[in-house]
Amino acid sequence: MTQKPHILVVEDEPTILDNLLYSLETEGFEPHGCSTGAEALALLETRPDVALAVLDIGLPDTTGFELCKAVRATRALPLIFLTARASELDRVLGLELGADDYVVKPFSPRELCARVKAVLRRCGDKAPAGPAPPETSPPPPPLAIDALRKRASYFGTPLALSSTEYKILAALARQPGRVFSRAQLMEAAWEEPEAAMERTVDTHIKSIRSKLESAHPGADPLITHRGLGYSLREDWP
Ligand code: CA
Repeated sequence: MTQKPHILVVEDEPTILDNLLYSLETEGFEPHGCSTGAEALALLETRPDVALAVLDIGLPDTTGFELCKAVRATRALPLIFLTARASELDRVLGLELGADDYVVKPFSPRELCARVKAVLRRCGDKAPAGPAPPETSPPPPPLAIDALRKRASYFGTPLALSSTEYKILAALARQPGRVFSRAQLMEAAWEEPEAAMERTVDTHIKSIRSKLESAHPGADPLITHRGLGYSLREDWP
């Protein structure tokens, strides 16, 4: 019997916090709840075995962003943000704080549990056995994003991406299968998106595609959705 992974949840809305703690426990985790940043930092000091933290962005004494910086100053803990507004999401995508994932409110506790498991799997920890998940764990995708070093590799080959191309690809890779409009990709990749033209997204996508193709020919993982935007394929062969 493996030890249950300890998960820290920082959320100041009691109903959401209770729901999350209950769901995580049901899914075989050992959750710890805090409602302020100060409480969270104090708990982390006494619990080096916390494997992942879920951070709400709007907290009474700080923001999830500040808390993320404080946590990351002392340890490399996988983090998932809870965001309530599109403006927060822009910051999550734009600031590149190195969040491992994010969930937009309102979300189902089940969705968050699935993200927690996926991040722990990516980070090399075993997700708890618990009740069988609906889908079996897929093999790791061939596209690897290193958010700390702002680098990407494809089938093991490092890609020489411009910073804009990196940001576009990283945004797509955070949610494989999700169709991003050009405007959303611009939000993710440009400091002043309104100054850029939507057509420039197409140019960058074309360049990313050709770099992926030369690193590993024949797979083309980027899908064009005519009139809608782009997505990264989620069903890797
Ligand atoms: Ca809040």
